[in-house]
Amino acid sequence: MALPTQLAHYHGALQKRSRITQAQEHAKLEDARSQPASTTQCSSFGSIITFGAGLSVMGFLTGFESCVVRVRGLPFDAHEREIYALFTQQGIDKARLYLKTNRVVEDGSREVEMVMDSDAGAALSVGLDMLEFRDRSLSFEVHDHTVPGKMARLSVKDADVLTVSWREPSVGYIVTLTSLEEAHRVAQELDGSVCFGRRLKAAMYVPLRFTSGSAPLAPLVRITGVPVSATDSDIRDLVGADLVHLHRSGVVCANVNPFNVIRVAAFATGCRDKADIISIDRTESTDELLRGFIQLRARFRTWDQAKRVYDYLIGIKLAHGTLCRVLHSFPLSFTITIPILQYIAQRFSWNELHQSASEAGQDHCRLSTNELPGEPTIQISLSGGDPAIVGPLKVKVEELAASGELVSGWHPRLAQLEYREGPFVNRALVESGAFICVDQQRQQIRVYGSPEAIARGRTIVQDELARLAGPSQTQVARVPREAARDFMMRGVPELCEHLGEENVHFDPATCVLTTSGGAETRHLIFRVIFTHAAPVEPRIPAGARDVCPICYDAVQAPVRLACGHTYCTPCLRHFLRSAIDSDKFPLTCMGDEARCGVPIPIHHIECFLSKQLYSRLLQAVFRTYIARNPLTVRYCKTPNCQQVYRVASQDVPRPVPTKCPDCLVVVCPGCNQGAHEGYTCAEHLARTDPEEQERLVDLWVTDQGGRVQRCPQCRLPLEKTAGCNHVTCRCGVHICWRCWGISSESADEIYKHMRSEHGGYS
Ligand SMILES: [Zn+2]
Ligand SMILES: [Zn+2]
Ligand SMILES: [Zn+2]
Ligand SMILES: [Zn+2]
Ligand SMILES: [Zn+2]
Ligand SMILES: [Zn+2]
Repeated sequence: MALPTQLAHYHGALQKRSRITQAQEHAKLEDARSQPASTTQCSSFGSIITFGAGLSVMGFLTGFESCVVRVRGLPFDAHEREIYALFTQQGIDKARLYLKTNRVVEDGSREVEMVMDSDAGAALSVGLDMLEFRDRSLSFEVHDHTVPGKMARLSVKDADVLTVSWREPSVGYIVTLTSLEEAHRVAQELDGSVCFGRRLKAAMYVPLRFTSGSAPLAPLVRITGVPVSATDSDIRDLVGADLVHLHRSGVVCANVNPFNVIRVAAFATGCRDKADIISIDRTESTDELLRGFIQLRARFRTWDQAKRVYDYLIGIKLAHGTLCRVLHSFPLSFTITIPILQYIAQRFSWNELHQSASEAGQDHCRLSTNELPGEPTIQISLSGGDPAIVGPLKVKVEELAASGELVSGWHPRLAQLEYREGPFVNRALVESGAFICVDQQRQQIRVYGSPEAIARGRTIVQDELARLAGPSQTQVARVPREAARDFMMRGVPELCEHLGEENVHFDPATCVLTTSGGAETRHLIFRVIFTHAAPVEPRIPAGARDVCPICYDAVQAPVRLACGHTYCTPCLRHFLRSAIDSDKFPLTCMGDEARCGVPIPIHHIECFLSKQLYSRLLQAVFRTYIARNPLTVRYCKTPNCQQVYRVASQDVPRPVPTKCPDCLVVVCPGCNQGAHEGYTCAEHLARTDPEEQERLVDLWVTDQGGRVQRCPQCRLPLEKTAGCNHVTCRCGVHICWRCWGISSESADEIYKHMRSEHGGYS
């Protein structure tokens, strides 16, 4: 192909710039050839997917059915192959294993996390601790499979424990002192002091004088919180001053047996057996403020029992009039950490979540935030007892935490500290109300906040990117006359899409293309002209050996696939890069006018795409797979939950319910409804779906051969057992059974009808 001069110039510049990338591509390709992998795996939304050639989905393991096995104590030089072998030797299929993390920890040993079938994990965990690796003994733990960006599950040790405390019975004293100074001193000394193991309260007051001229009344000190066992002489010693008068007051009652308080509550709430209460212990609090409190820890067999006792005790007044304080923890507990600035930018949305959490009630779930001093992050914790309340809230928290909007564009200078934290981010927050998160690893910019703040933040980012990119340049290129038509139809729209309509101008008369944009647009313009402005004639020079299946031209920089077809390197790269926007998977060879159809080997796909693009492509393939296979795999039924589960085969009448690891909802894999213990999917559908119920009743009615009919007014099935043809329905309507449909509000009318039409009542 003859390149126009301008084009040739761009080509040269481009070649120089891309020489390094080409060398890398070449190295990757060589690497892949020496060790071609026939399958590859990726983790997407909690599922582990295995892909074959052309990225066809070979198999998958959903988050619903997987667990994570953490292995500690491996030698630092343990090879990935050996780690896999550890599990494949136990009979686990390699396609159902996924090495999630693999790192060397502080003590120099290697620690890995392997995702696998929860059944396999459970079976394995029994014998795991016996396994050895090169004479080292390893430690194994089995965990839930959680996904990055989701809330981490906290292990709750004492969910079945209640802490119950109440103030011990106490008495009060009123002490009359001789002088104001004395009273002041005594009150100050005694208030907050500890006496007989109890913290006292003391306050001075001066009674009002009623008649003028009489002697001033003596000042008083009121002491409260005195243990019942204290005597008058104890108080005299304590005050240590000349007393005019001593008056003992307050509640005196028989001491309650603390253990009975909990036992009574337990039996009142349905604990039938002593075994339901595992233990009750009296604890001594070291906390000064808790002096004078009786504190017990009661452990129950289940969390539900602990919760019922909690509900019973909360707000209960004991015999001496003091309130019980009861604390319990929740069995479900999750936490996630986000930047404080993000929390500030999103505070209205977070407040709404706090609001909906408190509407559910403190007793059902708690959403709390915890700022760690000196840390730029904030910890958000969610806990509760009922998965139906906690699960959806958890999804909302995760959604908000991840709700940043992506701003396209990146500049290497954004890696500088100024952009990650500090001046730029702070200025943007003050000016726009949005938090701008510069993610160096993914080379992405995300903006968090209210929709208006995000719009303002987006402008700030775009301005900054434009400033970093330098002044915009005008590019001029000439398109060959014979290709102008093709270029206008396809090339110009593509350029407009990338650069914006206002920055693209093509004059059909002169065939000159003028564009404006940063330096990086030159590459794009070259590619578009290259793709859409190839001269029509002659397409294939005489004597050309290979024709590229994409550009139908003589191959340049050839890449040969296993099927024998040869592509130009830029064409194949462009084809694979654009595959992400199509849904034509698996990716197959376009040779022989697209009839070849041999899947493109994975190593070719991988080495032409960046790591990010490659993983996005894998995810797009799996999303397409989910959409095309609703009888195999489905999204979790909670809105916005990204987990998928495997649909049970149709000949399983009672599929085992399965729990979503993210939102905790329990799903029946047969009918996508909630769990329905004791019923088949069909029975459950009939019980919950009114239309289905109606359909079944209709079927049954026709089966009864006229013995049963539906009321013409309320559709209730009616049965005529014997006797006259006058039938009254529960809805009050009177019906003639012989000519169904004749109905009336009055019985007389029906009798009249039966006499005149049928000559009688039977
Ligand atoms: Zn080509
Ligand atoms: Zn082929
Ligand atoms: Zn879910
Ligand atoms: Zn079902
Ligand atoms: Zn009726
Ligand atoms: Zn009739």
